[in-house]
Amino acid sequence: MKEEIIDSLKEISGADWVVSDLSQMGSYLYDETEAKLRPTACEDCVVVKPSSAEEIAKIVTYANKELVPIMVRGGGTGIVAGAIPLKPSIVVSLERLNKNIEIDEDNLMITVDAGVTLEELMAKLADNEKLFFPIHPGDEGAQIGGMIVTNAGGVNAVRHGIMRQHVKALEVVLPTGELVKLGGKLIKNNMGFDLMQLMIGGEGALGIVTKATLKLYPKSKYSGTLVISFDTKEEAASFVPKILQEGIVPLAIEYIERPIALEVAKHLGKTWPAKKGNVDIMIILNEATEDILYGKCEELVSLSEKYRAVDSLIAETTKDQRNILEIRSNVLTAYQETIAEGLDIAVPTSFVPNIIDDLNRIAKKYGTYTLCNGHIGDGNIHNFVFLEDGKVPDYIDDMRAEFYAAALSYGGTCTAEHGTGRLRKQYMSLQFGEREIAIMQGIKKVFDPNGILNSGVIVD
Ligand SMILES: Cc1cc2nc3c(=O)[nH]c(=O)nc-3n(C[C@H](O)[C@H](O)[C@H](O)COP(=O)(O)OP(=O)(O)OC[C@H]3O[C@@H](n4cnc5c(N)ncnc54)[C@H](O)[C@@H]3O)c2cc1C
Repeated sequence: MKEEIIDSLKEISGADWVVSDLSQMGSYLYDETEAKLRPTACEDCVVVKPSSAEEIAKIVTYANKELVPIMVRGGGTGIVAGAIPLKPSIVVSLERLNKNIEIDEDNLMITVDAGVTLEELMAKLADNEKLFFPIHPGDEGAQIGGMIVTNAGGVNAVRHGIMRQHVKALEVVLPTGELVKLGGKLIKNNMGFDLMQLMIGGEGALGIVTKATLKLYPKSKYSGTLVISFDTKEEAASFVPKILQEGIVPLAIEYIERPIALEVAKHLGKTWPAKKGNVDIMIILNEATEDILYGKCEELVSLSEKYRAVDSLIAETTKDQRNILEIRSNVLTAYQETIAEGLDIAVPTSFVPNIIDDLNRIAKKYGTYTLCNGHIGDGNIHNFVFLEDGKVPDYIDDMRAEFYAAALSYGGTCTAEHGTGRLRKQYMSLQFGEREIAIMQGIKKVFDPNGILNSGVIVD
């Protein structure tokens, strides 16, 4: 990296906040993408840690003048190589934009700096008796800005949807350096094209989010977790639409195949509570009163018996609930050493039994197997591609393409949560036509004529 670039960044953010020594830069070059699949990061980079949106605007303006690529870094928990610099770049880390968190109880909203982590946001809201924020992707190290641009989902989407539904306003530094404010604390707002929605899920290719206003919800005090067991994958998957048809809307409905539950429990030194059956549906309820909670639990248990469940249990204590949730949340961590990849396709919920069947059939065709878990209430399945003798199997690209084609055949998507990043970009033409991709490339060009920001993420 040229000395003059390093010096200019020091002038903008201060020498203490510019890192150009490779030994101190290492943790900024990779995200959580599976090590065996991720591209090799370019080491000819400089990391800058600005303290304000205004500083970021100056950095982006400078980068445009000098035509130096910028890679935005949030919490680094992404898993599609979206935050890995592939060219000599300025890595802009948002970690110091974490000072302001303002709760607005009257409007049920919260305004936060983009570098605030999910963990920090939850800690702040834990002190508030009335309100909570529902979105929870698995890793609490994710920053709010990162969660917005990846349109994060997570376990609570059955009742509360995904990030997109909770963002009311954004402050953004555009790829050309201007600082703009989009949206507002409004329920209704129909003026012009909705540029804010383009930023959500834009994976930082259209702007750097520096501040956000999010919707909050009243806390329901009583929660319970049910684990309902089935003998077959199909019976378990077919049960899920019946829950929603009854008008019961849990916080989460998760699917976990028993070998995964047992493996993760072993990894954590815990015990998975279900014994009978081979597949479990985990349901988290969160209700205003104890009576409503118990009523719904009973309703679900008797409904499950009608649909061939072989067992059910209710975890009422916080300790038991946490045990189950911890096992569910640590699936990726427990399998880190054995899988090449965890996919995140989604289909309309009615097709979940079909897609699970297809994923198993396709894996078998390649002489291997897959295991599934996922946010089944949203039609979102995470299935594994396993390493062979510690190596990424030769057939991975072909098999992955078949998994995606199967999901798309039901009107599904290649990625429900993790995003396109660099890893999924090669499959854009499976899901979109030429014209749609050309429009996306055109949008990128309008926002970022010099291709400065997060270049190669989503579109080239
Ligand atoms: C164990 C584990 C479990 C996970 N479970 C889920 C899950 O259940 N659901 C789910 O949706 N995701 C899940 N994820 C993925 C990940 O946590 C999300 O993608 C997260 O939202 C990314 O946030 P981040 O701050 O870490 O972003 P990063 O990883 O730092 O960046 C992700 C992308 O956003 C860009 N970016 C980051 N911050 C900004 C900003 N302020 N402005 C503009 N661009 C920015 C980066 O350049 C990059 O392209 C999981 C990840 C792990 C490791």
